[in-house]
Amino acid sequence: MIYNLSEMFKQSLGFSKQLEINNFKYNYYDIGNVKVQKSVIDLTKTDKGIWISGTIPVGIELNCSRCLEQIDLDLDINLNEEFLVDDGFINEDSFTIDKDNHLRLDECLREYIIINIPLKPICSKKCKLMNY
Ligand SMILES: [Zn+2]
Repeated sequence: MIYNLSEMFKQSLGFSKQLEINNFKYNYYDIGNVKVQKSVIDLTKTDKGIWISGTIPVGIELNCSRCLEQIDLDLDINLNEEFLVDDGFINEDSFTIDKDNHLRLDECLREYIIINIPLKPICSKKCKLMNY
């Protein structure tokens, strides 16, 4: 999930372009397998870096909080985040663009997925039908 944005840094402030994300699978140590769906996000050059915004649909695998059966859950992840050019002075919590102008989307996407994961997922087959 690494994208080279060198071309954008040759452009003036406010320049924007679209970035195509292709289908792929990614394995996170804490979320597990994530199926990233083909999508397009917007990139805009700011005075500090690159602003990214757009929606990336993902599929994740969870276990039902009642019967523990696997659930395939589709989520639309709405990204809205500024990636800062790493000048050596930015704080550790920021998403950064490295000195080779690479934007790494994996950690950002991970945090957004975690925010969107339901706390107690319930499978639709059995558990949603049984009124506890
Ligand atoms: Zn269940």
